[in-house]
Amino acid sequence: MGGPAALMLTMGGIGRVIIAHGGDMISPDLNRQVLGSERVLGRPRAEDFGDYLRSMNQFVEVEAIGHEPNATEAAELAERCDIILSCPPTFEERLRLNRAAVEAGIPFIDAAQWGMTGTLIVVKPGETACLECLYPEPPPFEEFFPVVGAISAATGSLAALEAIKILSGTGDPLWGKMLTYDGYRGKVTTVQLQRRALCACCSSR
Ligand SMILES: [Zn+2]
Repeated sequence: MGGPAALMLTMGGIGRVIIAHGGDMISPDLNRQVLGSERVLGRPRAEDFGDYLRSMNQFVEVEAIGHEPNATEAAELAERCDIILSCPPTFEERLRLNRAAVEAGIPFIDAAQWGMTGTLIVVKPGETACLECLYPEPPPFEEFFPVVGAISAATGSLAALEAIKILSGTGDPLWGKMLTYDGYRGKVTTVQLQRRALCACCSSR
């Protein structure tokens, strides 16, 4: 999801994009990773993805970080950003990015998927529910779960669209809502989320 999101933001002319992704490109990535290809198998993902994004739009500054940011790094990055898009596979990473955004007071968009379902949550710190309001503790991680590339691309693109709306002041962003796309049935559901009064991340804001 981070690939299509970064691609749409870069092609859309967002001034600066910072991507963070660890590891090397491996063959199981190929069913959804739009920034990679068989040509770059075995190479560091972030480095190649950064090169690809730069080749798409010379007017966008692209910074590539070759590992998943820890809490300190995420907080430092949040201070340099206007918005965070979260697309990692683990709840620990998603909650870490959520916390960095809430503490920096910048909008946060979380994109997630499982099989044929994609979800999007859009957070305005201090005003709407945050990701930790929904998941105070990270659920057990499934090391292997189904990924359909079309759902990755659709959900990542919708995350980029929300970011473009927020940054440009256009339309009605999905503030405080969870959008779910059920790919099996072609059904979109949007629900308003409620803040958790004792959320350890956002309740004091
Ligand atoms: Zn919260």
